[in-house]
Amino acid sequence: MKSYKIALIKGDGIGPEIIDEAVKVLDAVASCFDFHFTYEEVLMGGCAYDITGDPLPQETITTALNSDAVLFGAIGGEKWDNLPREKRPESGLLRFRKELGVYANLRPAVVYDELINASSLKPEVVKGVDLMVVRELIGGIYFGEPKGRDENKGWNTMVYTREEIVRIAHQAFKIAMERSKRVCSIDKANVLDVSQLWREVVEEVAKEYPEVELSHMYVDNAAMQLIRDPKQFDVMLTGNIFGDILSDEASMLSGSIGLLPSASVGAKIGVYEPIHGSAPDIAGQGIANPIATISSASMMLRYALGEIAAADKIDAAIKRALSEGYRTKDLAQYDAKEVCSTSEMGSIIANYSAKCKH
Ligand code: NAD
Repeated sequence: MKSYKIALIKGDGIGPEIIDEAVKVLDAVASCFDFHFTYEEVLMGGCAYDITGDPLPQETITTALNSDAVLFGAIGGEKWDNLPREKRPESGLLRFRKELGVYANLRPAVVYDELINASSLKPEVVKGVDLMVVRELIGGIYFGEPKGRDENKGWNTMVYTREEIVRIAHQAFKIAMERSKRVCSIDKANVLDVSQLWREVVEEVAKEYPEVELSHMYVDNAAMQLIRDPKQFDVMLTGNIFGDILSDEASMLSGSIGLLPSASVGAKIGVYEPIHGSAPDIAGQGIANPIATISSASMMLRYALGEIAAADKIDAAIKRALSEGYRTKDLAQYDAKEVCSTSEMGSIIANYSAKCKH
């Protein structure tokens, strides 16, 4: 029997609650196939700082690099907000992505028919939305030098090299080849030099994918178009900060940030995590929506482990739970037949995932 080694990083806030549910579902689906998981739990974020004085202990990096994939919850919280920047949970996460070299963040945004009323947009605008934001993750303004601040000034630098743009563009075009063969590259080339280079290089890479239709859009327009007519998009290729913002915006198309998964890939080991944060406002209450994390586990099966049938089973189980009217509190007012806790939702999806006919 195949065994996959998964590094589990639960993190802070709702992190432990949602990861426990994803593990429940993974074990359930594995029971139908000829593989199983071994998990190694390691620390990152505020909890890691509290115990070791470092938000990213070396052991976490080593364990991650020796695994088949990393399943990650979320980090951060007010408690650690006033620490020096390098000690903050968020710095640990940025450093982690950089250490692993995961430069491509894939963020699908799908509107479930069952939750069509949960979107803040009209049903006819969002019905059928199925897009993928391909976000560059370890470059751009979050990492560029120089950066700093003094009492009266703060500064950061948005920088991209040709090589960084080439590799993320290839990811986007490859993904587009598996989808509807359309890429819309998002930039601010009317103002930023870095975006002019971005646009130029994306055009060059596009020549290697003649079947894919490439368009460009300024980020401010893209923010507007995502709300006006989201179905016009298939693959959206973006730099780090633009993708961060646009993918949160895209999450509201689907009704709750608690639904959206992500995969950070491009290196040997990928990191699979929900797009939301540690939600300290609801931590410990058993009301967090675990679907984004369960769906991230499904992406892990699909992209890291090649267990496509198992991933399909989890996706179908999520859909079934929603179509039968199960909702966590964030979606309770949208056609709920039963409002359930984090762990009840995990168990329902695990149950459906464990039905072995496939
Ligand atoms: P957040 O995503 O944690 O929460 C935003 C809102 O969405 C909150 O009202 C929260 O209750 C709700 N929410 C988030 N996930 C949910 C879920 N699964 N189910 C139901 N509701 C959910 O963003 P924030 O409040 O801006 O940040 C809180 C902390 O998380 C900060 O410390 C921030 O730095 C950190 N953060 C971490 C990550 C990460 O670990 N990848 C990402 C973003 C923010």
